[in-house]
Amino acid sequence: MRAAERVQPVEDSSVEGAVVSAKGLGKTFGDTEVLKDIDFSVAASEVVCVIGPSGSGKSTLLRCLAFLEAYDAGSVHIGGQLLGYKDQGGMRVRASERAIDRVRAPIGMVFQHFHLWPHRTALENVTEALRLVAGLSRREAEKQGMDMLERVGLVDRADHYPEQLSGGQKQRVAIARALAMKPQVMYFDEPTSALDPELVGEVLEVMKQLAREGMTMVIVTHEMGFAAHVADRVVFMDAGKIVESGKPEEVFRNPSSPRLQQFLNTWR
Ligand code: ADP
Ligand code: MG
Repeated sequence: MRAAERVQPVEDSSVEGAVVSAKGLGKTFGDTEVLKDIDFSVAASEVVCVIGPSGSGKSTLLRCLAFLEAYDAGSVHIGGQLLGYKDQGGMRVRASERAIDRVRAPIGMVFQHFHLWPHRTALENVTEALRLVAGLSRREAEKQGMDMLERVGLVDRADHYPEQLSGGQKQRVAIARALAMKPQVMYFDEPTSALDPELVGEVLEVMKQLAREGMTMVIVTHEMGFAAHVADRVVFMDAGKIVESGKPEEVFRNPSSPRLQQFLNTWR
């Protein structure tokens, strides 16, 4: 039996009112414990930036918070609902794919490498899920799709294919695609790390606008200036643990752990 499918006692402790909450979250790959006893929650309209060295478990955390990766200890709740598992006679068993999809539906995700369909236009990339998942008519989907492209400033690129777009434009299409599904929370995993430096700003600007509009966001990033300005809370991970967490001014100005001090020094 795979580790992820191990049956465990139910632990159904979501944080009251949180959009996302993880308690005692653990994840092991082979012999490597990649996430260790993580407690993490995000309130509505909160912007949380996750920072930390490469390999510290940031991507795995985001993936477990969306059940793209099955966690094997603790619990994740989205909008108060247990994600990925269900209670069966006081023990925890893996939920059906359909049940998992339903619980993860409020999550919009944006990755480092865009993941656009290469043979579809910008608009088609945005409308795909609106048609297939949300079941909208072509006309309705296109209307909403154009609204989303407008939010990311790309109405004039609607008919362009990904290869005709810059990296920054591609990432903005990916954001529009996620927004189209009306997510209650957006996860970003290093959304600007694959971009040429001159294209980073336009993507961060769209994300700042979302923050101003009250979007709930979890953002893994190396953009410390962005985190300092936009985050309500900064979480520092190292070796699979949350080492420090607090308001950006505290975390950046008065890091209490030597690991965070050392990490920040490499970015100054
Ligand atoms: P970060 O995003 O902070 O760079 P990751 O979450 O990608 O860190 O990785 C954390 C650790 O987990 C690393 O040691 C990485 O090698 C390991 N890891 C990530 N994904 C897998 C996987 N699918 N199989 C095995 N090990 C993995
Ligand atoms: Mg990563």
